[in-house]
Amino acid sequence: MPKTVAICNQKGGVGKTTTAVNLAAALALLEVRTLLIDLDPQANATGGLGIEKKEVARSVYQALLEGVPMDSLVMPTKVSGLWLIPSHVSLSGAEVELVGLPEREARLKQVLTPLKGSYEAILVDCPPSLGLLTVNALTAADSVLIPLQCEYYALEGLSQLLETIRLVQDSLNSRLAVEGILLTMADFRTKLTSDVIQEVRRYFESKVYDVVIPRSVRLSEAPSRGVPIALYDPGSVGARAYQNLAERIKENLHVRDARIGQRDTSPDSGEKSDLSGGGTGPEQGSGGPNSVDSDPTQPVSTSSETG
Ligand code: ATP
Ligand code: MG
Repeated sequence: MPKTVAICNQKGGVGKTTTAVNLAAALALLEVRTLLIDLDPQANATGGLGIEKKEVARSVYQALLEGVPMDSLVMPTKVSGLWLIPSHVSLSGAEVELVGLPEREARLKQVLTPLKGSYEAILVDCPPSLGLLTVNALTAADSVLIPLQCEYYALEGLSQLLETIRLVQDSLNSRLAVEGILLTMADFRTKLTSDVIQEVRRYFESKVYDVVIPRSVRLSEAPSRGVPIALYDPGSVGARAYQNLAERIKENLHVRDARIGQRDTSPDSGEKSDLSGGGTGPEQGSGGPNSVDSDPTQPVSTSSETG
């Protein structure tokens, strides 16, 4: 059975789609048969893999709302071993249309089941909201990968996301684990980036990948060419970072038993978070100091830049 990973953060522009596309491609290049599901009506993952959004006649919408079999929606990509189920702007209506349907939170899970024999990894690119589409992704997933942008308000909204994950675990999907927290768009010349990395590691410890995605013009250019970074500029720092991440995810592909631990350790509670569950964190022992003396949902205390 494949592992299904939802790439999720309700905050916009934090690197979800960039991560979904480039991680999926890097996994495929590591010979992991991978399916990427674009669950965002913006269809940026679809476009980023070279498929003209306007030319998508049938998207994941048709599977969720009209009962079209998912396997009939699968498209090949320019990366061998990577397939895509595209999105379309019509999916924006799904948030509303799903409301009246039975088992509205479990539609994606249901339609995915027949596909599972065909892939080793299924990644889901979520929209920037905690609406029904994201809840469907969390209900269908084995784990959730949370990209966090290295910026002043990096942790803002994270407690809301973690609470949503807990609610889904309690009522819809008890096996849902946190795959890991991925720091993105790091500018290592700035003190802000190092402060954010330190703060996030101090709080989430081993759940934060030691791989940090650098800010890179090449990564932002690749979607305009309709290819992942691994094809656009395979030697670039961004390509290497996503390759390193894919190696970590591949190691963890068959681990499914992690859970968010103690219920009272949201970023707002003043306690450290125990996301490690079954010890399946991205990098055991890579965390920071053991004490939390500030509210991690607040921005880090300095934003001065050194370069
Ligand atoms: P949304 O919430 O709208 O779906 P998102 O979380 O999927 O956004 P992306 O679309 O991946 O975020 O990234 C937002 C913007 O930042 C895009 O223009 C993208 O090209 C750029 N970007 C993402 N990651 C990087 C990076 N590491 N270096 C430079 N630019 C990046
Ligand atoms: Mg996106």
